[in-house]
Amino acid sequence: MRKLHFIIILALVTGFTNLSFAQRPTTTDYHANNRFEQLGTGLPTPNTYRTASGAPGKDYWQQRADYDIKVELDEPNNKIIGSETITYFNQSPDALPYLWIQLDQNLFAKNSPGPISRTGDLGNQTSMASLATISDMHYSNADYGYNILSVKDAKTGKALPYTINQTMMRIDLPQAILSKQSYSFSIDWNYRIVEFSKGGRRTGFEAFKDGNNVYEIAQFYPRLCVYDDVTGWQNKQYYSQGEFALTFGNFKMAITVPNDHVLGATGELQNPAQVLTPSQLKNFEKAKTSDKVVVIESQQDREKAEKGKPTGKKTWIFKADNVRDVAFATSRKYIWDGKMQEVAGKKVLCMSFYPKEGNPLWGKYSTEVVAHTIKTYSKFSVDYPYPVAISCHGPVGGMEYPMICFNGGRPEADGTYSEATKYGMIGVIIHEVGHNFFPMIVNNDERQWMWMDEGLNTFVQYLTEKEWDRDYPTRRGEPQAIVDYMKQDPKNLVPIMTMSDNLINAGASAYAKPATALNILRETVMGRELFDYAFKEYSRRWAFKSPTPADFFRTMEDASGVDLDWFWKGWFYTTEPVDQDLVEVEWFAVDTQNPELNKAEAKKQADEKRNTVARQRDKDYIKESVVEKNPDMKDFYNTYDPYKVTDADKKKYEAYLASLSPDERKLVESGLNFYTLKVKNKGGLPMPVIVKMQFEDGTDSVARFPAEIWRLNDQQVSKVVTTKKKVVQWTLDPYREIADIDEESNHFPRQPAQPTRFQLFKGGGFQRGGGSNPMREAQQNQQPKPAQQGGANKN
Ligand SMILES: [Zn+2]
Repeated sequence: MRKLHFIIILALVTGFTNLSFAQRPTTTDYHANNRFEQLGTGLPTPNTYRTASGAPGKDYWQQRADYDIKVELDEPNNKIIGSETITYFNQSPDALPYLWIQLDQNLFAKNSPGPISRTGDLGNQTSMASLATISDMHYSNADYGYNILSVKDAKTGKALPYTINQTMMRIDLPQAILSKQSYSFSIDWNYRIVEFSKGGRRTGFEAFKDGNNVYEIAQFYPRLCVYDDVTGWQNKQYYSQGEFALTFGNFKMAITVPNDHVLGATGELQNPAQVLTPSQLKNFEKAKTSDKVVVIESQQDREKAEKGKPTGKKTWIFKADNVRDVAFATSRKYIWDGKMQEVAGKKVLCMSFYPKEGNPLWGKYSTEVVAHTIKTYSKFSVDYPYPVAISCHGPVGGMEYPMICFNGGRPEADGTYSEATKYGMIGVIIHEVGHNFFPMIVNNDERQWMWMDEGLNTFVQYLTEKEWDRDYPTRRGEPQAIVDYMKQDPKNLVPIMTMSDNLINAGASAYAKPATALNILRETVMGRELFDYAFKEYSRRWAFKSPTPADFFRTMEDASGVDLDWFWKGWFYTTEPVDQDLVEVEWFAVDTQNPELNKAEAKKQADEKRNTVARQRDKDYIKESVVEKNPDMKDFYNTYDPYKVTDADKKKYEAYLASLSPDERKLVESGLNFYTLKVKNKGGLPMPVIVKMQFEDGTDSVARFPAEIWRLNDQQVSKVVTTKKKVVQWTLDPYREIADIDEESNHFPRQPAQPTRFQLFKGGGFQRGGGSNPMREAQQNQQPKPAQQGGANKN
């Protein structure tokens, strides 16, 4: 069915260079816009710390903080008792009269800046955790937060004056630390660990019915703030949404826990012979070189331990070099397994720690996913540099630290689980292990720019999920998955370039949208080869350094030769959506001037026009006209056929052909179709125009035009497309790669919309997805005796 708009036969005037349609400028009237101007002053001025190419400059510097931490878990009281000596290396050009320290545990203290500034309503159903989060109840009646017992000069032992400002602490130094000097000081502290379900954030413990706890311990020691060339001291309060800005250093950490615990931490275990049982030690050593998962401590052994009591304490010692943070997880419930993954010739020990409540999912997948993640991320960014990579299961749904992360994903008590639980668990492990690369290695300021780690990480997570399973039900990264968000009322949207604590719907604005934007850059704007090279170059340049957004934007252009300022502007600095509208398509063909063809076509058209309804009815109504009745009334014009090809016509045509050059003649005889497409940019965000042509013979083809076609007019453009075959249907964005929010306007001729289907019966058993658990249904169908139960997953 052809529904083409109309046909114009264009005259070819005097020759090829004079094709009349090639000279009409009317299709791209200038419409002033700055969408394709350079970011220019929108970015910070390059300097010798950070260059205009996006690389670290010749004078780039960053601070360093080494930690020697001793910490004990007081399990009966759920307390952390710690002391640390910090050596701070002032590698800045400046003298520092004081130091700023982060006291993250004060998030849970009375009058913490996060909870008291948080707003919200109460619905009919409110959990304890959400009540604690939005109300002034938030731990305000209990003694949570840090007790700072002492702050001392490490050499002299003299107390140092300090001032606590909510989640920040300033230590006043006896004299300023000069450039290139270092200073050591020590802090003693303790705090009560929050129970995660009662308003915990990124750390806490979970109490199980069997009387045992799982502890996921992080932000547990006073940590140096970042001092850098961008912000000076980054001492912005910890409101809870905006994560951390941290300084690299070398860590030594001694963790004392009850002697029946199994423990995982950032770093390499220094004293395995002292803390592991002979069988644990044997399996631990085996795992280091095994490419199959080795169970280091089994479920059976842990089920015994769960019923026992500790008989003393053990101190686990770890060393971690060039990390920006440390964390650990510990429990007498912890099952432990591991395998080796080689990255660039180095053996990395991948491990998992999980209570039996995580099985069968955790034993089957966790360590395999850790290994797959470090391998895949290394391909897209930099080689994983650390000796271990760990995934722990406990109360925290997903949180990252160097070499270790805390992840959710728990099956039902009967050991079955939904698809959402399975892929949610694999996805979160990929995500949190992936954070080793962004921000633990490429160390952005998370408190300022959430997207720099979450967006980049979610993007590589998308790639890594696809390499796990090409049908992986990826949540974020596909352009069509961001459409519902981009369609929203602009008052609910914030640009990606929004400070972390001010982001609305951070899951979309700092994870999904930047990840989608990068995916679009890779697949549609730059192509995989240019993108992958530039993205890797960014990772390489900024590994173990601290980039800003400008460093990322500049590097991506510098390494690829693609001007992306328009893309950063549209996707990162505005909330505009993509909405292209294929308004109309006009069809042109070159006039061959062949009288045989032209006159036949003209005759056909004249005949069609003459065929009016009156003429049709007159056929019978007028029995006999005058000229029919009386032929004498006819003359020359009654038989003259203006559509008959004459000798004069033929001669003229021959003369015309003789006047053409071979190329011109080829074009005239080509039978090519010329179409002008009028496309409107209704959404505002300029994007490449991708159009699929369905030909009348059933085949198709796709034409792609870069976003720069909008540079003279960002509202409407015309584009001429040439085809040999006739096009019967045009479709914009046929593979859904630009996140166009209205697909109905992407067709020409317009396609009827799909009907909205309504259900005749509601509440039937046909719902799928989310919480449904077909695995359990299948097992119940197989096992008609419900009394039969395995003992593995009770509790
Ligand atoms: Zn994340």
